Amino acid sequence: MRLSRYFMPILKENPKEAEIVSHRLMLRAGMIRQQSAGIYSWLPLGKRVLDKVNKIIREEQNRSGAIELLMPTLQSAELWQESGRYDDYGKEMLRIKDRQDRQMLYGPTNEEMITDIFRSYVKSYKNLPLNLYHIQLKFRDEIRPRFGVMRSREFLMKDAYSFDLTREGAEHSYNKMFAAYLRTFDRLGLRAIPMRADTGPIGGNHSHEFIILADTGESEVFCHKDFVDFDIPGEHTDFDSVEGLQAIFDKWTSLYAATSEMHDEAAFNAIPEGERLSARGIEVGHIFYFGTKYSEPMGAKVQGKDGKEHPVHMGSYGIGPTRLVPAIIEASHDENGIIWPASVAPFDVVIINMKAGDQACDDTCELIYAALTKAGKDVLYDDTDDRAGTKFATADLIGVPVQIIAGPRAVANGEVEVKDRKTGARETMTIEAAINRFVA
Ligand code: ATP
Ligand code: MG
Repeated sequence: MRLSRYFMPILKENPKEAEIVSHRLMLRAGMIRQQSAGIYSWLPLGKRVLDKVNKIIREEQNRSGAIELLMPTLQSAELWQESGRYDDYGKEMLRIKDRQDRQMLYGPTNEEMITDIFRSYVKSYKNLPLNLYHIQLKFRDEIRPRFGVMRSREFLMKDAYSFDLTREGAEHSYNKMFAAYLRTFDRLGLRAIPMRADTGPIGGNHSHEFIILADTGESEVFCHKDFVDFDIPGEHTDFDSVEGLQAIFDKWTSLYAATSEMHDEAAFNAIPEGERLSARGIEVGHIFYFGTKYSEPMGAKVQGKDGKEHPVHMGSYGIGPTRLVPAIIEASHDENGIIWPASVAPFDVVIINMKAGDQACDDTCELIYAALTKAGKDVLYDDTDDRAGTKFATADLIGVPVQIIAGPRAVANGEVEVKDRKTGARETMTIEAAINRFVA
C-alpha cells in the first residue's frame, strides 16, 4: 500500500475525549471514528488489525472443532419471550418495531436464536457434540459507553454455543473452548488469565472470565502470580482427548484467580505474600456452562441412547474482537505510539522514503516494495513528500513492527537502515539483506 494513495487520517493533537492510552492512540492513528455515542466506524488501518484478530480467533475456534455460521443482528422478540428473557433483559436491549408493527430487537447475544436453529434440525444424540459460532455485531445500550471501542454500545463478538447430551459431554466442550481461548489470546500477544466467574443459579465451577492485566482495566482482579508463566497448550493439542483437555483445565484452575465479584479474601491471603498479584484487568472473553437453561423452555431436545428425549446441555463462549484491539494496545505501547505484536500488525513492514523525488531513494524503495509485496508481505510504503521527522513519528505511532528507512546517504552505498519498532534498535544493511530478512 502506498501511503500517498491510502486513507489513514492521522491526528496531530491529542484528542481531548480520550481518557485512556488505547483510545487516544486509536484516534490519533486514524483507526476508528465515533459516529454517535458508543458507535464507531473502523477506518482502514483499524479494520486491518480487526481482520487479523478475527482470523486468529477463527483459526483457533475451527481447530477446536467449532463450526462457523452467521446469524443476523436483528431478532424477533418472540424468540426472547420463549426463554423469558425479553422482559428480564432491561434497558440494555435496543427494541425496534418494523413497519408491520412487529416487535424486533438488535441482538445483545444469541442463545435464543442458536437454540431455535438447533431444535429445528438436530434430533438425535448421534449428531452431538456440536459447537456453532459466529462473529457478528451486537448491541447493548450500555449506560456508560467509554474508552472508545473498549466499552461501546455496538461491538463485535465471537460467540460460540455448544450442545451435548450430558453434563460430562458439556464439560469436555467447555474444556475445548477453555484451551482454544488460551491459544487465541497467546497468539494475539496477550497473557490472559482465566478467572472464576459467577455462575448464577446453575452453580459448579463452570464459568470463567479471561482477563488481561492492565492498569486501565475496569475490573479489580486477584490471582497467583505463577499464572504469568504457565504454558500455553500447543498447536497439536488433541481436542478430542477428554483427559488431555481436563489436564489443561485442571492446571489452569489449580491456583487462585478471581475478579472482585468472586473474590475470597481468606483464600487469597493464604497465598504467600510475594506470590500474590492484585491488579486491574480487562475482560476479553467469558465462557459459560448453563446446562438446560434455554433448551428446557425452548424445547431443544434430542433422542438419547435410551430412546428417550433429553433437553441438551449447553454452554456459551464469548470473545470481544473490537475490545481486544484496544486491549492489545494497552498491553503494548510506548510514549511514541502503538507497538503491534507481529500477528496482528496492520502491516508487516513500513518502507520510509526519506527523500521522495530523489531518483536513487525512489528506485531503492520501489525495488524493496515490489520484492516484499511479491513475497506476500503486507507492506506500507511511505512515498509521501512529508518531512522525514513526520514520517518517523507516523511510523512509530501506527506501530508497524519493522521500518525500512531509505535515506540518500545510505542508498548511495547500496544500503538502508532497518529499525525494530519495539526495541528501537537500528541496523544498516545492504538492500538485499533487508529484503532477505522477510523473504527467507
Ligand atoms: P462486561 O462485564 O465487560 O460488561 P459482559 O460480561 O457483559 O462484559 P459477555 O456477555 O460475557 O460480556 O460478552 C462476551 C465478551 O464480549 C466480553 O468478554 C467482552 O470481550 C465483549 N464485550 C461485552 N460487552 C462489550 C462492550 N460493551 N464493548 C465491547 N466489547 C464488549
Ligand atoms: Mg462477563
